[in-house]
Amino acid sequence: MTTTPARLLIIGPQGSGKGTQGVRIAEALGIPAVSTGDVFRANVKDGTELGVKVKAIIDAGDLVSDELTGAIVRDRLEQGDAANGFLLDGYPRNVAQVNDLDAFLDGRGEPLTAVIELSVPREESIHRLSLRATEQGRDDDNEESIAKRLKIYEDETAPILDLYRARGVVDAVDGVGSLDEITARITAALAARGIAAAGSQSLSA
Ligand code: AMP
Repeated sequence: MTTTPARLLIIGPQGSGKGTQGVRIAEALGIPAVSTGDVFRANVKDGTELGVKVKAIIDAGDLVSDELTGAIVRDRLEQGDAANGFLLDGYPRNVAQVNDLDAFLDGRGEPLTAVIELSVPREESIHRLSLRATEQGRDDDNEESIAKRLKIYEDETAPILDLYRARGVVDAVDGVGSLDEITARITAALAARGIAAAGSQSLSA
C-alpha cells in the first residue's frame, strides 16, 4: 500500500472540537500536533516574554500578528519530530498566513496533503464554548471574546477553505457526534487519501 505523507491542517470554528480531534489523529499517526493557541497559552502560563506580549490580545479574542505567529510555526516545523509529518491546528487562520505557510512549505517541496474541515452549527459551538469556560476557566472564553473569535473565524478563516478546496485537499467532516465517531470519520477521510498509520486498519481502534 502506498502511503501519503501526513502534512495536515485541521480547521473549524472555536468549539468545533478541532483541538481534541487534532491530538487524537496526530497521536494515531505518530506526528506532532502543532497548535498555535496551545503554544501561546503555554507561554502566557509560564510568563515568558512572548506570553506577556500576547496575553491581552488573546484574552480580547483578537489575532496575534501574522509575523509573530508565522515565525513560531516555522520554528516548530523545523524541529526533527515534524520531519515526517505534522498536524496544524489554528494556523493558518487568514489569507496572509496561508501565503506565508505556502512559501515555507513549497520551499521544502512539502505542501499540505489534507485539510480537515470540521463543521458544527454555530449554536453548538457556542454551547460547547460556554461548557469549556466553566470546565477549564480559559480567560478568552467570555461572551465578548467568544463572539469576536467566531466573527473572525467567519470573516477571515472560513474563506481560506476556498483556497484549499481549489487544490483538492479539503475533506469536510461532520463535527457533531461522539468523540469516537468523529475520529472515525476523519480517519476514513484521510485513509481515502492514503494517509494512515503504518500497519493500522483504523485510527480510532
Ligand atoms: P485557539 O486555541 O486556536 O482558538 O487560539 C487562541 C488564541 O490564540 C486566538 O484567539 C488568538 O488570539 C491566538 N492565535 C492562535 N492561533 C493564531 C493564529 N494563527 N494567528 C493569530 N493568532 C492566533
